[in-house]
Parts: sequence; C-alpha cells; structure tokens
Amino acid sequence: MSQRKSYSKGMFTMAMRGFRRRCPRCGQGKAFESYFKLKERCDVCGYNFYREEGYWTGAMIMNIAACEVWFFAFFVGTLLSTWPDILWGPVMLVALITNGLLPVLFYPHSKTMWMALDLHFHPAGRNER
Ligand SMILES: [Zn+2]
Repeated sequence: MSQRKSYSKGMFTMAMRGFRRRCPRCGQGKAFESYFKLKERCDVCGYNFYREEGYWTGAMIMNIAACEVWFFAFFVGTLLSTWPDILWGPVMLVALITNGLLPVLFYPHSKTMWMALDLHFHPAGRNER
C-alpha cells in the first residue's frame, strides 16, 4: 500500500492557494514560470495544470466576473457618494483604466482560482500524479 499524501482541503483554503498563484492541489508549488506563463505541472506534487480542451473558459468567466463586480462596486459607490454632482469625466477615466488593466492583472489569479474551484468540485484530479 502506497503512502499517498492527502490533498483534501476546504474551499477557502483552495481558493487562497489559487489567489496566491499556487498549485491548487498541494498549495506548495508555484503554478507560474513568469507572471503570465503557466507551468505544465506542479514541481512539488506533479499535478497537471493543463486539463482539457476548453478548460480555461471558466477562468475567463471568473476574470470577467471579478472585473464586473469591481466596476459595479466602484460605479455605484461613486454615484452614491457624489450624488447629485457626479464628476462623469473622472468616473469614465477610472472605469476605462481599471476595466482595461484589471483583467490583465487578474489573469493568472483567475487561472489558478479556476483550477482550485474545479479541483474542489471534481476531486478526481487529487489522486493523479
Ligand atoms: Zn502541487
């Protein structure tokens, strides 16, 4: 009987591993070679980061959703705090900059967070090497 390490963790722990751009299974290995280049496998546990065709659609949805949540919070917060004298120029400028920049900055986090979410709900990958 082989001694296999248990990778079972709660959703929050796995999400935080994803946010830190770590392997969602072991939490130890770095998932990225550089800021944008994902490794093929985890250096520590060997978990394969490339799952299947179309796998990253979920990461794109997470990335878009995070940016939209940010924009909604910013927009509503600005409207409520400056009503009725809303400065539309600065609001548009901040909205354009953040909606262009946040998806780029959040890109690697969205990938690892998506992997963590997928691994949490489809734990079959926990036992692979
Ligand atoms: Zn790992």
